[in-house]
This record gives sequence, structure tokens and C-alpha cells, in this order.
Amino acid sequence: MDISVIIPTHNEEGNLALLHQRLTTTLFQLGCLYELVFVDDGSTDRSLEVLEQTYTSDRQHVKVIKLQRNYGKTTALVAGFQLASGNVLITMDADLQDDPADIPAMLEELNKGYDLVVGWRKERMDRARKRLSSRIFNLAVSRAAGLYLHDFNCGFKVYRRQVLESVRLYSDLHRYIPVLAAWQGFRVSERPVTHHPRHSGVSKYGTGRIARGFMDLVMVLFIVRYLRHPLRLFGWLGFFIFSAGGVINVYFAFLWLLRFWGLAEVPPIGTRPLFSVAILAMILGVQLISIGLLGEMIRYFSYEPKSEYAVSQTWQ
Ligand code: UDP
Ligand code: MG
Repeated sequence: MDISVIIPTHNEEGNLALLHQRLTTTLFQLGCLYELVFVDDGSTDRSLEVLEQTYTSDRQHVKVIKLQRNYGKTTALVAGFQLASGNVLITMDADLQDDPADIPAMLEELNKGYDLVVGWRKERMDRARKRLSSRIFNLAVSRAAGLYLHDFNCGFKVYRRQVLESVRLYSDLHRYIPVLAAWQGFRVSERPVTHHPRHSGVSKYGTGRIARGFMDLVMVLFIVRYLRHPLRLFGWLGFFIFSAGGVINVYFAFLWLLRFWGLAEVPPIGTRPLFSVAILAMILGVQLISIGLLGEMIRYFSYEPKSEYAVSQTWQ
């Protein structure tokens, strides 16, 4: 199989038939072997019926998975990736906001020597509020991750198979696939794509996702920087906080001695707020170091050689 197109679907009854038709036109013209993997993510409308009809009318190219309930887009994509057998995988939203006619251009970009091409909805057909929050999101992720892309969250992406074999997706991590892929050493590029208003149905996401996405960003940054050596984060943080508390307490010890030997007029130390802060800092420091060590223990015992690296090519 050359190409698998994976389409996460949640209540998209009005879009699926046209999407299938447009995808078929484009992929047929490309003249390659292809399959369309529709993942029904717990739809409550007639989506599944439409998908069954699509399957019956085009068994040669269509695969359908019905998930037991609505798990969310990331999980729907993972289910699709598991079933897909193409060397190149394409993800696309079901609402026809992405245009199948852009597939050849995206493939062309991939063939320039990239492993992942991310669509860039240069002229986005969404509400102003969503566009603004998305802009902030893209700037924040670009800066934090050091990977500069305009549109991380675009549903339209083209991957080489290896990318998805080495990226672990759960929660809402689909938004960070480019970051995780780049971290594994894959070459990531982007290409402007046409964006349409939703053909039918309603959007499943509001602006609220940005707030949820923030914690995911913290998680992704932790994954790409410290997952492999947690002590380097918690250990150093703990060390600095412990040392700060320690230095202050050495100063207090010195004051205490002055007072004890009657060498100077020093007010009692026990009631000074800074004293409590210093003790707290020392305790916190020790705790952070312990968390780091626990992290290293988990790392040691869950060690799997295979998940330490992504292979680019093997000759044997
Ligand atoms: N989607 C999904 N599961 C969900 C939510 C969304 O599979 O829980 C799919 C949805 O059917 C669509 C894609 O994810 O194909 C993007 O969703 P939507 O178009 O609502 O997002 P927007 O374009 O408004 O950001
Ligand atoms: Mg959409």
C-alpha cells in the first residue's frame, strides 16, 4: 500500500460522502495504491450508517473502525494509524475544511526529503477568536519547543510511516506531533494548504482547548527535555533550592553563635519569617531531589532498548 488517508470522524454525517468522492478523485489521479481509513469516534448521528454505505460501495479502498465511545481526536488517530498499512500516512479532518486537492502538493514537499509535512492554513476560515487563540498557541509552542511552524494543530499532515511508529500519542498530544517527531530526529516541514469553511455540521472544539493545551505543552516540554533523565531537572532544581535555604541557615547559625557567646545584640532568630522560608526551602530541595531519583528508578526498571531511539535506516 502506498498511501493511507486517516480520517477521524465525530458526528460528520453531512460531510462523509462528499469527502470520499473528493479523496477518490484526487488519489485516483495520482495513480497509486491507496486506502481510506475512517475512524468513527463515537458519533451519535448517522455518520456510521454513511460510513457503512461508503464501505459497501468501495470495499477495495475503504476501511472503517467504529470506536466503542467518543475518545477524542488523538485516540481516533491512533486507532487509524494502527489499522493503516500505507508507507505514507495522511491525516485529514472529516469536515472538508481541508482540501483533498492539496494532497499532491503535500506529497511533493515530503519527497523533498522530509518525514513529516504539516499543513499551514494560511488563510483560515474560522472565527476571529479561534484564529487569534491559535496564533498565540503556535507562537508559544514554536518558542518553547524551538521548532518554528505556523500551524501545529492543522489536521492535514503527511507522514512517513516511521514517524508514527516512534511517536507515542495519548491525551490531546496530536497537537504536538511535529514537536515529538522533531525530537526523535525526523525532518519536519510545512506547506500552505487551502482552508474552507466547514461543509456541514458543527465544530467540536471551542477556544477552551487552548487552556487545556497549556498543561499538555508543559508535558511535551518535559518529554522532549527531561523524560530520558529526570534527575537533571528535579535534581538541579532541588539542589539550587536546598542550597539557597542552606546558605541562609548558615547565616542564621552565625547570628545564633554571636548571640550565644554574647558578642553582639542579636534579636531571637526562631521568630524571623526568613528562617521559616529557609527551612522550607531545604525540605523542598530534598523532596525535589528524591522525586528526581524516583524518576531515575522508574526509568531504570522500565528500560526498553527499542524505545531509546528511532531508526532512520538499517543495512544488514
Ligand atoms: N473529532 C474526532 N473526535 C472528537 C472531536 C473531533 O474524531 O472527539 C474529529 C472531527 O470529526 C473532525 C476533526 O476531528 O474530523 C476536527 O474537528 P473539528 O472540525 O470539529 O475541529 P475544528 O476544525 O473546528 O478545530
Ligand atoms: Mg474543522
